[in-house]
Amino acid sequence: MRIARFSIDGNVAFGAVEGEKQDELVLDIIKGIPFADFELSGTKVPLSKVRLLPPVLPNKVVAFGRNYADHAKEMGNEEVPDAPFAFFKPATSVIGPGDEIQYPSFSQEVHHEAELAVVIGRLCREVPRDRVKDVIFGYTCANDITARDVQKREKQWARAKGFDTSCPLGPWVETDLDIAAANDLTIQLTVNGAQRQLGRTSEMTHPIEDLIVNISEAMTLLPGDVILTGTPAGVGPLNVGDEVAVTIEGIGTLTNKVVKRG
Ligand code: ZN
Repeated sequence: MRIARFSIDGNVAFGAVEGEKQDELVLDIIKGIPFADFELSGTKVPLSKVRLLPPVLPNKVVAFGRNYADHAKEMGNEEVPDAPFAFFKPATSVIGPGDEIQYPSFSQEVHHEAELAVVIGRLCREVPRDRVKDVIFGYTCANDITARDVQKREKQWARAKGFDTSCPLGPWVETDLDIAAANDLTIQLTVNGAQRQLGRTSEMTHPIEDLIVNISEAMTLLPGDVILTGTPAGVGPLNVGDEVAVTIEGIGTLTNKVVKRG
Protein backbone atom coordinates (compact mmCIF):
# COMPACT_ATOMS: atom_id res chain seq x y z
CA MET A 1 0.00 0.00 0.00
CA ARG A 2 1.14 3.55 -0.75
CA ILE A 3 0.33 5.82 2.19
CA ALA A 4 0.35 9.58 1.66
CA ARG A 5 -0.13 12.43 4.11
CA PHE A 6 -2.01 15.42 2.81
CA SER A 7 -4.01 18.49 3.66
CA ILE A 8 -7.53 19.10 2.51
CA ASP A 9 -9.72 22.04 3.56
CA GLY A 10 -7.25 22.91 6.31
CA ASN A 11 -7.23 19.40 7.81
CA VAL A 12 -4.35 16.94 7.73
CA ALA A 13 -5.07 13.29 6.96
CA PHE A 14 -3.44 10.10 5.75
CA GLY A 15 -4.74 8.25 2.73
CA ALA A 16 -4.07 5.10 0.74
CA VAL A 17 -3.09 5.98 -2.83
CA GLU A 18 -5.08 4.03 -5.43
CA GLY A 19 -4.67 3.88 -9.19
CA GLU A 20 -1.71 3.77 -11.53
CA LYS A 21 -1.82 6.78 -13.87
CA GLN A 22 -0.43 9.91 -12.23
CA ASP A 23 -3.40 12.09 -13.20
CA GLU A 24 -5.99 9.52 -12.09
CA LEU A 25 -4.70 8.74 -8.59
CA VAL A 26 -7.18 8.87 -5.72
CA LEU A 27 -6.72 8.84 -1.95
CA ASP A 28 -8.86 6.62 0.26
CA ILE A 29 -8.84 8.51 3.55
CA ILE A 30 -7.48 6.53 6.52
CA LYS A 31 -9.34 6.46 9.83
CA GLY A 32 -6.80 6.85 12.58
CA ILE A 33 -3.02 6.83 12.07
CA PRO A 34 -1.24 4.38 9.83
CA PHE A 35 1.31 3.21 12.45
CA ALA A 36 -1.45 1.57 14.52
CA ASP A 37 -4.27 -0.62 13.25
CA PHE A 38 -6.26 1.46 10.83
CA GLU A 39 -9.19 1.22 8.49
CA LEU A 40 -9.83 2.79 5.13
CA SER A 41 -12.86 5.07 5.33
CA GLY A 42 -13.99 4.48 1.75
CA THR A 43 -14.16 8.28 1.33
CA LYS A 44 -12.08 9.04 -1.74
CA VAL A 45 -10.58 12.27 -3.01
CA PRO A 46 -8.60 12.82 -6.21
CA LEU A 47 -4.92 13.31 -5.46
CA SER A 48 -4.93 16.32 -7.77
CA LYS A 49 -7.36 18.09 -5.38
CA VAL A 50 -5.14 17.90 -2.28
CA ARG A 51 -1.72 19.14 -1.26
CA LEU A 52 0.66 16.32 -0.44
CA LEU A 53 2.69 16.82 2.76
CA PRO A 54 5.85 15.04 3.92
CA PRO A 55 4.57 11.44 4.30
CA VAL A 56 5.75 11.32 7.92
CA LEU A 57 6.80 13.84 10.57
CA PRO A 58 9.93 12.23 11.98
CA ASN A 59 11.24 12.83 15.48
CA LYS A 60 14.66 12.44 13.85
CA VAL A 61 16.21 11.71 10.49
CA VAL A 62 19.33 9.55 10.77
CA ALA A 63 21.42 9.65 7.61
CA PHE A 64 24.33 7.38 6.70
CA GLY A 65 27.37 8.69 4.83
CA ARG A 66 29.59 7.07 2.18
CA ASN A 67 27.44 3.96 1.85
CA TYR A 68 28.07 3.59 -1.91
CA ALA A 69 31.73 3.02 -2.85
CA ASP A 70 31.46 5.00 -6.11
CA HIS A 71 30.14 8.06 -4.28
CA ALA A 72 32.79 7.80 -1.52
CA LYS A 73 35.38 7.77 -4.31
CA GLU A 74 33.98 10.80 -6.14
CA MET A 75 34.19 12.70 -2.83
CA GLY A 76 37.89 11.83 -2.58
CA ASN A 77 37.45 9.07 0.02
CA GLU A 78 39.13 6.00 -1.41
CA GLU A 79 38.35 4.08 1.75
CA VAL A 80 34.77 3.03 2.40
CA PRO A 81 34.19 2.99 6.17
CA ASP A 82 34.18 -0.54 7.68
CA ALA A 83 31.28 0.35 9.93
CA PRO A 84 28.32 2.50 8.90
CA PHE A 85 28.58 6.11 10.08
CA ALA A 86 25.59 8.25 10.89
CA PHE A 87 24.70 11.92 11.16
CA PHE A 88 21.45 13.75 11.86
CA LYS A 89 19.19 15.93 9.82
CA PRO A 90 16.75 17.82 12.08
CA ALA A 91 12.97 17.50 11.86
CA THR A 92 12.89 21.13 10.66
CA SER A 93 14.81 20.16 7.50
CA VAL A 94 11.95 17.97 6.25
CA ILE A 95 9.75 19.13 3.38
CA GLY A 96 7.26 17.27 1.21
CA PRO A 97 6.79 16.53 -2.48
CA GLY A 98 6.38 19.71 -4.50
CA ASP A 99 7.72 21.90 -1.69
CA GLU A 100 10.52 24.36 -2.44
CA ILE A 101 14.16 23.74 -1.57
CA GLN A 102 15.38 27.13 -0.33
CA TYR A 103 18.98 27.81 -1.37
CA PRO A 104 20.67 29.03 1.82
CA SER A 105 22.53 32.35 1.92
CA PHE A 106 25.69 30.85 3.50
CA SER A 107 26.48 28.43 0.65
CA GLN A 108 27.56 28.78 -2.98
CA GLU A 109 27.53 25.04 -3.70
CA VAL A 110 24.35 23.13 -2.88
CA HIS A 111 24.28 19.50 -4.05
CA HIS A 112 21.58 16.88 -4.57
CA GLU A 113 21.88 13.32 -3.16
CA ALA A 114 19.20 10.79 -4.14
CA GLU A 115 18.60 8.29 -1.33
CA LEU A 116 16.28 5.47 -0.35
CA ALA A 117 14.55 6.41 2.92
CA VAL A 118 13.42 3.78 5.42
CA VAL A 119 10.45 4.74 7.63
CA ILE A 120 10.36 3.14 11.08
CA GLY A 121 6.99 1.73 12.16
CA ARG A 122 7.40 0.99 15.86
CA LEU A 123 9.32 2.03 18.93
CA CYS A 124 12.47 -0.07 19.06
CA ARG A 125 16.01 -0.28 20.40
CA GLU A 126 18.88 -2.80 20.00
CA VAL A 127 17.10 -4.43 17.09
CA PRO A 128 18.63 -7.81 16.18
CA ARG A 129 19.40 -8.31 12.48
CA ASP A 130 16.62 -10.84 11.94
CA ARG A 131 14.02 -8.52 13.52
CA VAL A 132 14.85 -5.45 11.43
CA LYS A 133 12.07 -6.25 8.95
CA ASP A 134 9.54 -6.09 11.81
CA VAL A 135 10.35 -2.48 12.73
CA ILE A 136 10.11 -1.10 9.19
CA PHE A 137 6.87 0.62 8.20
CA GLY A 138 7.86 1.22 4.58
CA TYR A 139 10.04 3.11 2.13
CA THR A 140 10.03 6.50 0.44
CA CYS A 141 12.33 8.70 -1.66
CA ALA A 142 14.65 11.27 -0.11
CA ASN A 143 17.00 13.96 -1.30
CA ASP A 144 19.85 14.61 1.16
CA ILE A 145 20.41 18.23 0.11
CA THR A 146 23.93 19.26 1.10
CA ALA A 147 25.80 22.58 1.20
CA ARG A 148 28.99 20.94 -0.09
CA ASP A 149 31.27 23.94 0.44
CA VAL A 150 30.11 24.23 4.06
CA GLN A 151 30.47 20.46 4.57
CA LYS A 152 34.12 20.72 3.45
CA ARG A 153 35.03 23.60 5.73
CA GLU A 154 33.11 22.69 8.89
CA LYS A 155 33.94 19.59 10.93
CA GLN A 156 30.39 18.86 11.99
CA TRP A 157 27.72 18.75 9.29
CA ALA A 158 24.86 20.30 11.24
CA ARG A 159 24.71 23.41 9.06
CA ALA A 160 25.82 21.77 5.80
CA LYS A 161 23.18 19.04 5.91
CA GLY A 162 20.68 20.32 8.44
CA PHE A 163 19.48 23.63 7.08
CA ASP A 164 15.75 24.24 6.57
CA THR A 165 14.31 22.44 3.50
CA SER A 166 17.39 20.18 3.13
CA CYS A 167 15.40 16.96 3.53
CA PRO A 168 12.69 16.49 0.88
CA LEU A 169 10.74 13.24 1.51
CA GLY A 170 7.96 11.60 -0.50
CA PRO A 171 5.78 11.35 -2.41
CA TRP A 172 4.34 8.61 -0.13
CA VAL A 173 5.42 5.58 1.89
CA GLU A 174 5.32 2.24 0.06
CA THR A 175 4.58 -0.45 2.67
CA ASP A 176 4.48 -3.54 0.42
CA LEU A 177 8.20 -3.92 -0.35
CA ASP A 178 10.01 -6.56 1.62
CA ILE A 179 13.52 -5.86 2.83
CA ALA A 180 15.21 -8.03 0.18
CA ALA A 181 13.40 -6.07 -2.55
CA ALA A 182 14.27 -2.75 -0.91
CA ASN A 183 17.95 -3.74 -0.93
CA ASP A 184 17.82 -4.07 -4.75
CA LEU A 185 15.98 -1.15 -6.37
CA THR A 186 16.96 1.24 -9.15
CA ILE A 187 17.47 4.75 -7.83
CA GLN A 188 17.86 7.73 -10.11
CA LEU A 189 17.88 11.51 -10.02
CA THR A 190 17.26 14.09 -12.71
CA VAL A 191 17.79 17.85 -12.78
CA ASN A 192 15.49 19.63 -15.24
CA GLY A 193 14.84 16.25 -16.85
CA ALA A 194 18.53 15.36 -17.39
CA GLN A 195 19.81 12.29 -15.58
CA ARG A 196 22.50 12.99 -12.99
CA GLN A 197 22.49 9.94 -10.71
CA LEU A 198 21.70 6.31 -11.44
CA GLY A 199 22.41 3.37 -9.16
CA ARG A 200 20.96 0.37 -7.42
CA THR A 201 20.42 -0.01 -3.71
CA SER A 202 22.21 -3.37 -4.02
CA GLU A 203 25.43 -1.29 -4.38
CA MET A 204 25.13 -0.15 -0.76
CA THR A 205 28.18 -1.19 1.26
CA HIS A 206 25.98 -1.72 4.31
CA PRO A 207 22.45 -2.95 3.53
CA ILE A 208 19.36 -1.73 5.39
CA GLU A 209 19.65 -4.40 8.10
CA ASP A 210 23.18 -3.24 9.07
CA LEU A 211 22.15 0.42 9.23
CA ILE A 212 19.22 -0.22 11.56
CA VAL A 213 21.23 -2.57 13.80
CA ASN A 214 23.95 0.10 13.97
CA ILE A 215 21.80 3.08 14.91
CA SER A 216 19.37 1.22 17.17
CA GLU A 217 22.35 -0.01 19.19
CA ALA A 218 22.76 3.61 20.26
CA MET A 219 19.27 5.10 20.40
CA THR A 220 15.56 4.40 20.51
CA LEU A 221 13.84 4.72 17.16
CA LEU A 222 10.26 5.98 17.12
CA PRO A 223 7.39 5.42 14.68
CA GLY A 224 7.87 7.87 11.82
CA ASP A 225 11.63 8.17 12.25
CA VAL A 226 13.48 8.12 8.94
CA ILE A 227 16.76 6.46 8.01
CA LEU A 228 18.58 7.74 4.91
CA THR A 229 20.73 5.02 3.39
CA GLY A 230 23.36 6.96 1.41
CA THR A 231 23.64 8.14 -2.18
CA PRO A 232 25.07 6.59 -5.35
CA ALA A 233 27.66 8.42 -7.48
CA GLY A 234 26.76 11.45 -9.57
CA VAL A 235 26.07 14.09 -6.94
CA GLY A 236 26.36 17.63 -8.24
CA PRO A 237 25.24 21.22 -7.97
CA LEU A 238 21.72 22.61 -7.92
CA ASN A 239 20.90 26.16 -8.98
CA VAL A 240 17.99 28.44 -8.22
CA GLY A 241 15.21 27.59 -10.68
CA ASP A 242 16.17 23.93 -11.06
CA GLU A 243 13.64 21.14 -10.74
CA VAL A 244 15.14 18.05 -9.11
CA ALA A 245 13.44 14.63 -9.12
CA VAL A 246 14.35 11.42 -7.29
CA THR A 247 12.75 8.25 -8.67
CA ILE A 248 13.00 4.88 -6.94
CA GLU A 249 11.72 1.72 -8.58
CA GLY A 250 8.54 0.44 -6.95
CA ILE A 251 8.06 3.61 -4.87
CA GLY A 252 7.55 6.73 -6.99
CA THR A 253 9.01 10.14 -7.83
CA LEU A 254 9.81 12.98 -5.46
CA THR A 255 10.03 16.35 -7.24
CA ASN A 256 11.12 19.68 -5.77
CA LYS A 257 12.06 23.07 -7.13
CA VAL A 258 15.00 25.15 -5.94
CA VAL A 259 14.30 28.77 -4.98
CA LYS A 260 16.32 31.54 -3.36
CA ARG A 261 15.62 31.80 0.35
CA GLY A 262 13.41 34.86 0.70
ZN1 ZN B 1 23.59 11.56 1.85
